[in-house]
Amino acid sequence: MNRAPVTDLLVHICCAPCGSASLERLLDEGFRVSILWSNPNIYPRDEHDKRLDYVRKLGAHYNLPLHETPWVHDQWLQAVSGLEDEPEGKARCRACFFFNLTRTAEAASELGIPQFTTTLSISPYKSFSQICDAASRYEAFLPMDFKKPNGYQRSIELSRELGLYRQHYCGCEFSLR
Ligand code: SF4
Repeated sequence: MNRAPVTDLLVHICCAPCGSASLERLLDEGFRVSILWSNPNIYPRDEHDKRLDYVRKLGAHYNLPLHETPWVHDQWLQAVSGLEDEPEGKARCRACFFFNLTRTAEAASELGIPQFTTTLSISPYKSFSQICDAASRYEAFLPMDFKKPNGYQRSIELSRELGLYRQHYCGCEFSLR
């Protein structure tokens, strides 16, 4: 019997709840997944570390390698400079996606992983087309809309099952206020 070749994929994970159903789907579809943590947009630092701890728990649950990048919040603030007062879902968020997806593209290249994607797309509050637009300069980007068919609902179920922390704001200080 011929089997489809396994595809290596680096997955930018924005938080454990969004990762839960996205990773489940990718593993069901036969990808060989590695996870990348790059979310220096999250503020304050304690919140960043708390979300990372739950991502570690999720990575261990699925037995997947997790690559962590540091909380370079000052660099992220520079990347969104001038966009602080933009409403959620507009230009600041596009710049934020671009920042983290650029780091993911660089990590994929360093790790020799041919494609990458992001769990950001599972959120009903984030535009799939805006995410794809932010990643459009990277040929290695694999566009996957994890919302479909019912990814967000599945992420709620899995978060409950696995005891994952579900935050109440997107991440940065501008979404907090
Ligand atoms: S609201 Fe969320 S996506 Fe938008 S800039 Fe802040 S952390 Fe990034």
